[in-house]
Amino acid sequence: MRFAPLLAAAVLVLAAIGASHAQHAPRRALVKLAVLTHPTHDFPASLEHAIAEGLRDELQVEVQTLPRRPLPEAAYYAPRRRYRADVLLDRLRPLQAGEPETTKVLGFTAADISTSARGRFDWGVFGLGDLGGRAAVLSTFRLRRNARDDAHFTFRVVTTAVHEVGHTLGLEHCTEPRCVMNDAHGSIATVDGSDGHLGPVCRARVDRSAPLR
Ligand SMILES: [Zn+2]
Ligand SMILES: [Zn+2]
Repeated sequence: MRFAPLLAAAVLVLAAIGASHAQHAPRRALVKLAVLTHPTHDFPASLEHAIAEGLRDELQVEVQTLPRRPLPEAAYYAPRRRYRADVLLDRLRPLQAGEPETTKVLGFTAADISTSARGRFDWGVFGLGDLGGRAAVLSTFRLRRNARDDAHFTFRVVTTAVHEVGHTLGLEHCTEPRCVMNDAHGSIATVDGSDGHLGPVCRARVDRSAPLR
């Protein structure tokens, strides 16, 4: 009888291996999505749905949509007329207060965002995520530039969402050229060069993380 729980665990592992990631793998985190609205920047619901679907398929997370909320004016950086991503993360983290650490929040906006990076105080970015932490944010502002069409733009947005939520799951930047965790912060070419998926190293790392209970 002592073997029964082990056997059950083995059967569960086999079931998880046999299942496709998209449908049946164990869920490893709950990601709450929050559109940060802005009076002159629209964020279409169709894009929100594409992000939710991309996160479910690629990272095997549960996704929940939060009510839309205004982009916090406290994050506005007047000299460059854009919003500080680090301040946005400060505002997003409290949405997770009291939740288990497997609960993450991803805020997104169509307004331009920036952070201190690459030796500059204010560097425009596609997104920013807490490494192994609670919150991530992405902006579609720079991803829209020179996109070939809507499908290409959506690919860029979903790829960036997976990248930033990947950071909250503990994934660091990766050197595999096609991996979604390759550092996209400086260059749209890196986003376009990704195949939209985790490469083998990152896939193995994220698959080792504990499933959501
Ligand atoms: Zn990154
Ligand atoms: Zn990788």
